[in-house]
Amino acid sequence: MSSIFLFDVDGTVTPPKQKIDSNFKIEFLRWMKDREVYIVSGGSFPRIIDQLGTDIVDGCAGVFACMGNIFYEQLDQINPSGFDEWQIIYENKFRSPRGLKEKLKKVVEESAYHTKTGKHSQHREGMINFSIVGSNATTEQRREYAEYDLQNKEREAIVGALKKQYASLDFAIGGAVSIDIFKMGADKSQIIDRHFDEVLEGNRILFVGDRIPFPGNDCSLAVTLRQHPNGSAYEVESWRDTAELLKTEPFA
Ligand SMILES: [Mg+2]
Repeated sequence: MSSIFLFDVDGTVTPPKQKIDSNFKIEFLRWMKDREVYIVSGGSFPRIIDQLGTDIVDGCAGVFACMGNIFYEQLDQINPSGFDEWQIIYENKFRSPRGLKEKLKKVVEESAYHTKTGKHSQHREGMINFSIVGSNATTEQRREYAEYDLQNKEREAIVGALKKQYASLDFAIGGAVSIDIFKMGADKSQIIDRHFDEVLEGNRILFVGDRIPFPGNDCSLAVTLRQHPNGSAYEVESWRDTAELLKTEPFA
């Protein structure tokens, strides 16, 4: 039975929204050689490439971007430019329910948090990424908000309120500052049904993520895998934990 390794990116392989540590990158490249590795991230494909670099991404068998709402696989042949080419295998669109846009605007206005930098709702494949601090925020402003949220549990409260109003939607607290909004079931767990269903019968699938406890954005995939005898999920707190994990069984 062969092993397939799935990795979240933010907080698992890289610091949230940042590039991979340069020493860990060397270690990871060495580790992934001859292993079947997939990325399962909330971020877009270009952002994943920016964070991990083309060498790691090209070493992957596939990339599930935007919470598994868009799946890229490498073409078998190498094109004349010398770069591996990627193709989209499937993608989901997110259709915003009536009034959601206005509602999210109101949530930002009504938040007691002091810094709001703009670009609070961002449409991605199959989802909206929403934050009170806004995606114009600097790393420092993001860190400040993350601390505020840890103490005030603002994101949990927002998710609780939105859930009551939008039964067809699901919400996940991902990254350090944002909330992912998507159609019920269009979360990371969808990659099992859409890609690994049969694979899971004959292979071990191991997933590493930093947001496995509910309502984190790795929760649904971890739960789905743990329900299957060949699936498992490993919780880390940062890429440093992941670096250590790779030295231990069954990763080593
Ligand atoms: Mg993460």
